[in-house]
Amino acid sequence: MEDPWVESREKMVETQIVSRGIKDERVIAAMKKVPRHLFVPVEMIDYAYNDEPVPIGEGQTISQPYIVAYMTEALNLKKEDKVLEVGTGSGYQTAILAEIVNEVFTVEIIANLSLRAQELLRKLGYNNIHFKIGDGSFGWSENAPYDAIIVTAAPARVPRPLEEQLQIGGRLIIPVGSTFQELYLITREKEGFKRKKLLPVRFVPLITTH
Ligand code: SAH
Repeated sequence: MEDPWVESREKMVETQIVSRGIKDERVIAAMKKVPRHLFVPVEMIDYAYNDEPVPIGEGQTISQPYIVAYMTEALNLKKEDKVLEVGTGSGYQTAILAEIVNEVFTVEIIANLSLRAQELLRKLGYNNIHFKIGDGSFGWSENAPYDAIIVTAAPARVPRPLEEQLQIGGRLIIPVGSTFQELYLITREKEGFKRKKLLPVRFVPLITTH
């Protein structure tokens, strides 16, 4: 079936992603392919390809396309990587990850959002995504260790379990801070962690249950 949004998506990738320096071909291909307009509420469909986050209900937002691309590229993913996402939300970032790696685990604390994302992602044919409803600040220990972890809501501090569930050589990308947030890339080394501050960002707060 002809997708009337192909042009909007191509334009989004050219003007927001490639022109700002994203180079990873797998990230670019995924952003060209995933139908972002299906991940926003119908009344927001005209905003789906804009250069901004979009409300998805329950006080949450789908991240700005550039931030999705930037965070995904920073994880330096390989096909074989096992990835954990905290904050399924609309499922858009989940789909981008599922285009690139074999296996994605995703945790969402708001049941409604998770169920909606599960339905859409199954309808789109993704069968390499495992969903969990719960507090992702504990990670998902049953499937650890992960090669990469991406957190799409901001905690005040990096939750310890997320670092602990990283493989050696594994990468964690996470916004940290309450009013002002910085995006961090944390790499687990043989002994300890390397923490690199990347750029200032705005995310919804990570909800904590403890
Ligand atoms: N990646 C999402 C971004 C959604 S916004 C997308 O592309 O649409 C962040 C999401 O994190 C929200 O859906 C919010 O409900 C969820 N969230 C907040 N705190 C959480 C927690 N402790 N565990 C899991 N998910 C959480």
